[in-house]
Parts: sequence; structure tokens; C-alpha cells
Amino acid sequence: MTISSFQPPKRTLMGPGPSDVSERVLQALARPTIGHLDPAFVGMMDEMKTLLQYAFMTKNELTFPVSAPGSAGMETCFVNLVESGDKVIVCQNGVFGGRMKENVERIGATAIMVEDEWGTVVDPQKLEDALKANPDAKFVAFVHAETSTGALSDAETLTRLAHDHDCLVIVDAVTSLAGSPLKVDEWNIDAIYSGTQKCLSAPPGLSPVSFNERASEVIKNRKSKVQSWFLDLSLVMGYWGAGAKRSYHHTAPVNNLYGLHESLVILQEEGLENSWKRHMDMHLKLKAGLEEMGIGFVVKEGDRLPQLNAVYIPDGVDDAAVRGKLLNDYNLEIGAGLGALAGKVWRIGLMGHACSEKNVDFCLNSLKEVLGK
Ligand SMILES: *Cc1c(COP(=O)(O)O)cnc(C)c1O
Repeated sequence: MTISSFQPPKRTLMGPGPSDVSERVLQALARPTIGHLDPAFVGMMDEMKTLLQYAFMTKNELTFPVSAPGSAGMETCFVNLVESGDKVIVCQNGVFGGRMKENVERIGATAIMVEDEWGTVVDPQKLEDALKANPDAKFVAFVHAETSTGALSDAETLTRLAHDHDCLVIVDAVTSLAGSPLKVDEWNIDAIYSGTQKCLSAPPGLSPVSFNERASEVIKNRKSKVQSWFLDLSLVMGYWGAGAKRSYHHTAPVNNLYGLHESLVILQEEGLENSWKRHMDMHLKLKAGLEEMGIGFVVKEGDRLPQLNAVYIPDGVDDAAVRGKLLNDYNLEIGAGLGALAGKVWRIGLMGHACSEKNVDFCLNSLKEVLGK
């Protein structure tokens, strides 16, 4: 049997990620592969750091993309900062906080869970109570934008509380980066990770991370070796670090980095604040249309993520059949519910390049037709 080239269908991606990748980024991905230690490539890496510092609003020297998807950024933060025996307060209000707990426990550290109902934000009061009850805790970890439920927690307040109790914060900003206000330096965030496939609209497979001085000191003063060879920052920094001679650690995903570079150039052209505003404007437009159809949101107003709209599936509607019809007849992907919300909600993403007036209209019209409204 002869297998021929793979030709993916042309979809509109309005789920929880990956989001639509623009023609400009696709063209960047197709540029010639060069050596990952080629001086031209190294120049691109330096620009990449500057562009990521812009996106994160930070001057952190230790800012670079991990060569693997968002989950690897999460693991990079945990395995480099947390050591066996440490105590970490993990706030969970959806799927991704549960993964943070997994990371902590696999290191041999203790996770103190602060749980909030799915669809609500992390409650600062509950965090404060946990901090008081656990004066020996070293870290607080939380998800800024919970993609499983569409809730946006108050990262600034949670970080301040953690610092008041001498804890460092580890923040999941996979879905918030470029979609919602996020100010790493102004909010004093110690360690943060994101992804390329949500509001940056680059393909999946890279995870921007950033660590401040305080976090870098903790990493430098570790008692034990980082359990992961690949994610050990003391080794990775020989490749990505400032003034490093760029010695070989692993072969960077060269073309994928071209794609991220281009998407960050696009972000810079638009302006970070304008990108946040576009996400909010399109969310409000989508919300008006959905409410007209009698479709309601999971998260209460004011706590909602503009880039991820979790809405209740109307009574009597077949979840899988509707999503299947949208995909097959309209080439439109929306997301299913995850975890506790599986079968109960749809997750409509308005991320990055996919967050446009045209897509909001397309999504609303397609849903109307499929639901027979
Ligand atoms: C998507 C996502 C991740 C995981 O990113 P991958 O690129 O799928 O590994 C982690 N946290 C949140 C909040 C996410 O939305």
C-alpha cells in the first residue's frame, strides 16, 4: 500500500486549543531549517527572549521557551523549584490544578490542596487560611486562567498573599498569556509557564517560561539534583542562558521556534493591550449572541475568561452529535467539557488568531443552524 502526503482538512479552531495558526506563522514554519547553533539561529533566540519578555511584561533574564508543550513548562517549574520534602499549597478549581498536585507528589513533596468549586475562581480567603495553617509551606501554585472551566483567578492578589507568608508562587498562564492582562514584574510573579497553542496562536509544542531572581536563587541553592535530565535548568541554561556559549543540550525544534517568533512579532505589532482588548470585545459579542439563543455561562460575570467560554449545553441537546455536525458540516471545532464538566458544557475558544469578528459570527450562525434555532 502506498501512503500519500497527509492533507489536513481546513478547520476553524474555536476550542480550548490549539487555536488557528495564521498564514504568516504557517509561512514562517516553512522557512529553511538551519543548524540550531548557527549564528543566525542564535540571533533569533536572542530576539525570542526579548519578545517573550514583552509578552510576559517582565525583565526576567531567565525567560525562554521550553522545547515541549505547556505541560512540560509546568513540569519545568515544579521539578526545578520543588524538592522532596517541601510543602506546596496547590489551589485547584479545575483540571489543571490537579496536574500541579501530580507534579508535586511525584517529586516526593507534599501538596496541601485548596479547593474551589469548578467554575469559580480561586478564593483568596481560603488560600490565606491555608497559608496560616501551614507556616512551613514554601510555594503556592495556582492556575491563572482555568481552561477547563473558563474562570480567571486574581493572580495579583494570590501572589501578594503568598509573599506575605514567605512563599514563592508558581503560576500557570498557558491560556492567559496574550489573552488577559498578565503583568509578571508588576505582580511579582516568581515562576510562570505558558504555551504557544492558545492565545499566541503558534503551533503546539513549545512552552514559554520565566523565573525571577528569587526563583533563580532557589534553583541555584537546591540540595538535590533535578530529577529530570531534560528539564534541568542548570543544564538547559548552557543553551538558552545569557552569555552562554550555546553549548549543545538538545536540538531545539528549529522551525517551531520560527513559528513562535513570528507569532510574537504579530503580538508586538498589535500591542499587548490591544490583544487583551480584542479578546474581551469578541467575548462580549459572542456572549450577546449565545444569550440570545438562551445559552448560559458556567462562570459568573466578572470572573469569566474572554478567551475560553464555557457554556451549558441546552437541555435535550446531544453533545457529541452537535459537535460532530459542527466539525463535519462546518469544519468548526468547539471544545467538549473536561473532567467534572464532561457532557455538561461546551468550551468555545476565542484564542489569538481565532479571536475575530468573522469567527464569532460564523460560530453563532453555525450553532443556530445545528440547533435548529
Ligand atoms: C492547555 C493547558 C495546559 C497544557 O498545555 P499543553 O500544551 O496541552 O501541554 C496547561 N494548563 C492550562 C491551563 C492549559 O489550558
